[in-house]
Amino acid sequence: MNLGIDKYITMEINSIGCPACRPAYNEKLIEFFNKNIDNLCEDCVRRLGKNPMRILDCKNEGCKAVTKDAPVAIDNLCGECEEHFEGVKGYLDTLEVPYNVNPMMVRGLDYYVRTAFEMVTDKLGSQSAVGAGGRYDGLIKLLGGPDIPGIGFATGIDRMVALCMLNETEKENETDVFVVSFKDVSDKTAMKLVNGFRSAGIIADMDYDFKKMKKQFSLADKNGARFTIILGEDEMVKNTAAVKDMETGSQEEIDIDNIIKYISDKLRRN
Ligand SMILES: [Zn+2]
Ligand SMILES: [Zn+2]
Repeated sequence: MNLGIDKYITMEINSIGCPACRPAYNEKLIEFFNKNIDNLCEDCVRRLGKNPMRILDCKNEGCKAVTKDAPVAIDNLCGECEEHFEGVKGYLDTLEVPYNVNPMMVRGLDYYVRTAFEMVTDKLGSQSAVGAGGRYDGLIKLLGGPDIPGIGFATGIDRMVALCMLNETEKENETDVFVVSFKDVSDKTAMKLVNGFRSAGIIADMDYDFKKMKKQFSLADKNGARFTIILGEDEMVKNTAAVKDMETGSQEEIDIDNIIKYISDKLRRN
């Protein structure tokens, strides 16, 4: 199923090395942070002994100022990890998946190796992760199973739902057809027509307040209508409608009985 929320999401990737190259990198980090220990928060001082990489994604402003200049994992990868990371980027390029390399993104747990990724959005207040994960080769072995590679991720269902709702709101501004009508002249015809369009799977709307024609036209515009159908007095007498193509500006007079088919055909061609 396609949720249609990928347009709100940026993919961030990083490589955090492997058991072969991480110990030396951790040493470098410990050396660096020891020199700046006075500027680290309490949590990070604790992390320094256990998992210095975690300091890199501390949200504390003081820590952030320090980590800006810290050595990053992608500059300290072993040959195999470097090759692996180039491979990951190459496959993403092939599949045309846009991504940013974020050298500051790390994972909290030891069993993660090499690729770490996060799907972030700036549509939900401050930039936040919608999902995050990485590669955890070795985890199954650690748990007593065979030595097989692994990958996993977690997503925030609440954040995904919030993005889906945002998507729905935006979709409301994509109307195929807007019907302009007038009270006691063509209101009933318009309602029938809008209903017919909707049954045919066409996104249709109208103004139920029957405001002045100009107002209705701006409503059609606001709704991003592809076609505007005008049901004026003259048209009603002839059982026709004026159909305006909002992209080209051209206008045609169409028999009301044929109008749903006419619009369906037009939309299919577009
Ligand atoms: Zn490595
Ligand atoms: Zn900190």
